[in-house]
Amino acid sequence: TSESVKFVYDFTEGNKDLKDLLGGKGANLAEMTNLGLPVPPGFTITTEACKTYLDSGEEPVELRDEVSAHLDALEKNMGKKLGQADDPLLVSVRSGAKFSMPGMMDTVLNIGLSDKSVTGLAKQSGDDRFAWDSYRRLIQMFGKTVLGVDGELFEDALEKAKEAKKVAVDTDLEAADLKKLVTKFKKIVKTEAGRDFPQDPREQMDLAIRSVFESWNTDRAKLYRRQERIPGDLGTAVNVCSMVFGNLGPDSGTGVAFTRDPASGHQGVYGDYLQNAQGEDVVAGIRNTVPLADLEQIDKKSYDQLMQIMETLETHYKDLCDIEFTIERGQLWMLQTRVGKRTAGAAFRIATQLVDQGLIDEAEALQRVNGAQLAQLMFPRFDESAKTEQLGRGIAASPGAAVGKAVFDSYTAIKWSRSGEKVILIRRETNPDDLDGMIAAEGILTSRGGKTSHAAVVARGMGKTCVCGAEDLEVDTKRRRMTVGETVIEEGDVVSIDGSTGKVYLGEVPVVPSPVVEYFEGRMHAGADDADELVAAVHRIMAYADRVRRLRVRANADNAEDALRARRFGAQGIGLCRTEHMFLGERREMVERLILADADNEREDALKELLPLQKQDFIELFEAMDGLPVTVRLLDPPLHEFLPDITELSVRVALAESRKDANENDLRLLQAVHRLHEQNPMLGLRGVRLGLVIPGLFTMQVRAIAEAAAERKTAKGDPRAEIMIPLVGTVQELEIVREEAEQVIAEVVESTGVELKLALGTMIELPRAALTADQIAEAAEFFSFGTNDLTQTVWGFSRDDVEASFFTAYLEKGIFGVSPFETIDKDGVGKLVRDAAKAGRETRPDLKLGVCGEHGGDPESVHFFHEVGLDYVSCSPFRIPVARLEAGRAAS
Ligand code: ADP
Ligand code: MG
Ligand code: MG
Repeated sequence: TSESVKFVYDFTEGNKDLKDLLGGKGANLAEMTNLGLPVPPGFTITTEACKTYLDSGEEPVELRDEVSAHLDALEKNMGKKLGQADDPLLVSVRSGAKFSMPGMMDTVLNIGLSDKSVTGLAKQSGDDRFAWDSYRRLIQMFGKTVLGVDGELFEDALEKAKEAKKVAVDTDLEAADLKKLVTKFKKIVKTEAGRDFPQDPREQMDLAIRSVFESWNTDRAKLYRRQERIPGDLGTAVNVCSMVFGNLGPDSGTGVAFTRDPASGHQGVYGDYLQNAQGEDVVAGIRNTVPLADLEQIDKKSYDQLMQIMETLETHYKDLCDIEFTIERGQLWMLQTRVGKRTAGAAFRIATQLVDQGLIDEAEALQRVNGAQLAQLMFPRFDESAKTEQLGRGIAASPGAAVGKAVFDSYTAIKWSRSGEKVILIRRETNPDDLDGMIAAEGILTSRGGKTSHAAVVARGMGKTCVCGAEDLEVDTKRRRMTVGETVIEEGDVVSIDGSTGKVYLGEVPVVPSPVVEYFEGRMHAGADDADELVAAVHRIMAYADRVRRLRVRANADNAEDALRARRFGAQGIGLCRTEHMFLGERREMVERLILADADNEREDALKELLPLQKQDFIELFEAMDGLPVTVRLLDPPLHEFLPDITELSVRVALAESRKDANENDLRLLQAVHRLHEQNPMLGLRGVRLGLVIPGLFTMQVRAIAEAAAERKTAKGDPRAEIMIPLVGTVQELEIVREEAEQVIAEVVESTGVELKLALGTMIELPRAALTADQIAEAAEFFSFGTNDLTQTVWGFSRDDVEASFFTAYLEKGIFGVSPFETIDKDGVGKLVRDAAKAGRETRPDLKLGVCGEHGGDPESVHFFHEVGLDYVSCSPFRIPVARLEAGRAAS
């Protein structure tokens, strides 16, 4: 083996940048040690050792000796040996992966205690109770974590001991009680694990280390990693840390703290403290903690020192930190720190606060927030000042604040919502049959299932508020009611659900608009109260993102109203105007006539009727986006979408025929519907294919665009229309459309006398288009990647079907961590985008490149589009701020 292998690092050897090797906890323990903070001495076993163990099933051969050497040094340093009978050194064995995986891996405290050393510890500390309490904790944690004994057996025994003694809390048990409990615990271990609790301290330590290694691959850990997209091959580090004791009486204790408020970002004293306690007691809620501020009264010296240390940490990490500490007989010890989690609002506030304190610069501030947080701040929310009655709490699966009448089945959801009621669909869990009900509902509430349950996945896809897995709720769909404790909620009772917190309320909680949206809409400005402080922070960070980003951000908008809102949100043009939306409503009948036309003149008449309407649409749109580019996509969807439903029409005609009064028009219509019916319309007559087989359709649209542009110019406007051809698979298609379009434009220039420059480009949304991008660029002045359809065609997924049918299973099995319709699949679809962009620009260096489709507003995808060199992303108006922010983050 090579000399350079090193599997163990003393706390004095590591630092915070070694998280890959030492895990987050180990790297930060080392960092604190080197800062001179009081950290109990110890060492860290690397993730490399863990990986070797997991690969081969055995610890690397060098590990044992290295651990021995570091343990020796630790023992010398502490002046006592691990488990030494008269004065034992005790250690904790703590897991610590690169990414924190809450609750996934356990820590064992008090290793080194045995039947012998427990009396030594009692004598040394002068505290029998403490020694036996520590020993029973060791057997309990070791039994559960290392030997796999059901933890409840220990807890039950502890409960019984308290009952027998008629006391409420564990601190009221005396040494003799705890001694008995130890005997009981050892029996439990023997029966359940089939072996004695190990008395050899080194064996205890080695077994604990191994079990931390193994905990990396428990089913729960694997599932968590897949869902959070943490790579499975990182492994965990193991920290061996000499024990300090918070359970040595009232002048001892343990606590957790934040260097500032993780909810508001405000500086102050935030945390909890518990006297005479060890380890997890604080968070486990076994006794009532006191606010950290009270420590000032309890132990002023330690309190002052802690405040000092928190400031040191903030200045050093330049960020909010959370910490775990213990006080042993008036002596403060730091046991953990890390950059702390925070709410979305606090992330923005803290980032700007730190800039103002001179700790970070604006570029760094931009990295401290993200688009998901901004999106969260843009949802409407419940009025916090309102009086509420909380029913329970589930998993915050899809954000938003929804209020409605409780319904327990899809049918009722649809029926009630049709009659104008707002409903919340409540199910134990949902399945594909509930889809229509979910669409009809304001929000979805389930009592089972997690973040990847059907309800959660589908609701997120629809952008609908969802709380799932609210286990306190007893849902009885048969009797159409749910019960929560004593409370019964019948069908029709009003409930409110908060998809950002998971909270469920009885009755109507008032909803207030998000102050951040009010700000983007221009209805709110910086000021002094709490919401405005947030707005001011968002304002500053957005300004910085806009300054540094290279990607431009456009909107998908089909009408002037959306366009104006998009502009207020910072859109720099329209990347996708879908003209099919202009053919619905009362105009549908004209389209019907167009499709049914037998003769040229019938068709021309229909087109002539449509032309002025289309033109008016564009005039309004160009006016709303004056001075900015507007990409108009010519008609895309299958024509039969504009025709009546085939089954309905067949029945109507059949009935009429049986009454012998079939009408001529209906018969023709039915024939046409049959003629145009497709098994697979998504891959049928649509997009450019329509333009090629229906004479005059595309040229009518081009004429409407050109005439609208000419009219805007005459009115001294600055229209910047771009014409986009959908679903092109080969350059020949594009060339034909292009020729016709150019002719029409020339005619309009001629007849109006207005000069027009209309760019003509195409969508790249079929694999063949991407693969022949070099050829297609000869006829296209711009590409817009239609990543929705491209994802469908590359994967062979029908988006409308698969998200509700098998995506849940795929997500659960970890085949992908997130739907490829939500975040671009970089390796597959993304590769086509990257290659097509490159090939297109080789043919035409000034080719403009953009993307329209849901991915344009997805944070991770935006970074990808920045990387592959696109010019802009286009997304729905509401996502524009998110795209601006992420484009800025990608560029800085
Ligand atoms: P987690 O990853 O769950 O936070 P830790 O390894 O931090 O687990 O251990 C949990 C708790 O156990 C800590 O918060 C600390 O209070 C206690 N603990 C761990 N090591 C020691 C030690 N050497 N001395 C005293 N308490 C310890
Ligand atoms: Mg911890
Ligand atoms: Mg498309």
